[in-house]
Amino acid sequence: MFGNLYLVATPIGNLEDITLRAINVLNQVDIIAAEDTRHTLKLLNHLNIKKPLISYYKETEKIKSEILIEKLLSGKNIALVSDAGTPVISDPGEEIVKQCIEKNIKIIPIPGACAFINALICSGFNTREFIFIGFLPANNSDKKNKLEEIKDENKTLIFYEAPHKIKSTLEVMKEILGDRNIVLAREITKIHEEFIRGHISEVQEKINEARGEFVILIEGTNNKNAQKEFLNNLSLEEHYKYYLNKNLDKKEIIKKIAKDRNKSKNEIYQYFINY
Ligand code: SAM
Repeated sequence: MFGNLYLVATPIGNLEDITLRAINVLNQVDIIAAEDTRHTLKLLNHLNIKKPLISYYKETEKIKSEILIEKLLSGKNIALVSDAGTPVISDPGEEIVKQCIEKNIKIIPIPGACAFINALICSGFNTREFIFIGFLPANNSDKKNKLEEIKDENKTLIFYEAPHKIKSTLEVMKEILGDRNIVLAREITKIHEEFIRGHISEVQEKINEARGEFVILIEGTNNKNAQKEFLNNLSLEEHYKYYLNKNLDKKEIIKKIAKDRNKSKNEIYQYFINY
């Protein structure tokens, strides 16, 4: 029989956030695959758990996955952990998960801490619809392109960022997205946990010392609603002219007006029949 792969969440700061199930699984598996074995060893020592550790980090994901798959196929149970939080979320693991699916090896999640979920629930922003982006590209122009792509999203936007880049990233965000309403969730579950709220410029003033770990949350834009409201306040003739100025033909204009006003195309067509 094959072994199972357990994806075990570990604390993101406060060690009390380890779950009873995570402790049991870490105690029972044959091997623990860890992003940084020295880091995980500290947690295991704290929990009094002694297990063989194998390092599994981004640069070696492919080769290490193949080694771990062999062990799973031979019946060993393996737990995958990252340095903090839920493995595979902006952390290594995607590769082994894919390979397990191919080989019909069972993958079992052991839920627990995840920085962005805890940042989101304290944000006060829309939690029904959100986009988790994680880390933006390191290259400045790729970073700007990514922000351009999501600029008009009305869903909450969630990012991870390294402490030493937080200031420059906020500056780029302000440039591309405008001085939007944001929350910086800092040091979640740790002694200096805080949620810094305000427009980007206000938050920038509040974080002279960008120390600690941060999740950046940006309130979704309501540009689309504002645009819809603007168009609906026009007369039908003005609405028509608005699209005419955008060089649309009559058929396209009628379709767009019907959509903006939640009317049938035929109703709008009848109105403009002699246009
Ligand atoms: N897998 C992790 C999770 O489940 O959240 C995320 C790992 S990712 C490599 C690390 C990033 O997560 C940090 O740069 C920071 O943006 C965020 N992060 C992790 N711990 C945090 C904490 N305690 N408070 C705020 N942000 C945290």
